[in-house]
Amino acid sequence: MSNQAVRMRTGFTSTLLASILLVVSGCAGSHSNPEAGGLSCLPKSPPYQSPLALTDASPYETRLGFGYRPSTLKLIKLEDTLQGMDVNGRLTVDGMEYTLLQFHFHTPSEHTFGGPELPMEAHLVHKNKWGQLAVVGVLFRAGDENDALKRILDIAPRSLCGEARLAEFSPESLLPPIGQREFYRYAGSLTTPPYTEGVTWLVMRRAQPISTAQTAAFRELMGSHSRKPQDRNGRTITISEGSAENAN
Ligand SMILES: [Zn+2]
Repeated sequence: MSNQAVRMRTGFTSTLLASILLVVSGCAGSHSNPEAGGLSCLPKSPPYQSPLALTDASPYETRLGFGYRPSTLKLIKLEDTLQGMDVNGRLTVDGMEYTLLQFHFHTPSEHTFGGPELPMEAHLVHKNKWGQLAVVGVLFRAGDENDALKRILDIAPRSLCGEARLAEFSPESLLPPIGQREFYRYAGSLTTPPYTEGVTWLVMRRAQPISTAQTAAFRELMGSHSRKPQDRNGRTITISEGSAENAN
């Protein structure tokens, strides 16, 4: 083989290898999303994705304070969820302050307590001044009619992108009662695209009641768009020993 032929062959092999690596790393795909920081070719392992099956939690005290207030809520029906906007609330996690952006629902639940999924889960999404997210999850179990969910269902818009207003609604009414707010904490991700990681998850240990009719109504409204529990990949899940408090 001449030197030129060797050079050409080597060049061809390098190009082929680069193409294969490109495909393997997913860079040739079309999943570019500016919100996720664009394409990344760096291998990222292990993935720390959400939701999780919340089992084998270690006791650990996180100071969690809720400062939720009533507002005139705006409810929007999106393609796969019902979302509450124009909310008034803040959250402190070990002294770090977050502002409540919105809440929304998933049927069935995304997190589990190690058994089957529950009928529904609410996510209250917060952001701090550095843009980091903290999401409070509240699971709902089959039981009595839930007053807060009734208020929402009574006025929920039925058509896509439809909006409705609900006066004097506090997201606090979605939480377990004061004194019953023990919670799990772990580091995970958004559960919908772009599945961005670095999210602090705080999931209430006590599921709240939802009636069979309410579950059916939410399911009819939103369809079923829940992500299954992901691999834990060695992550620690902690459980608070006490209840979260209301902040002033
Ligand atoms: Zn969600």
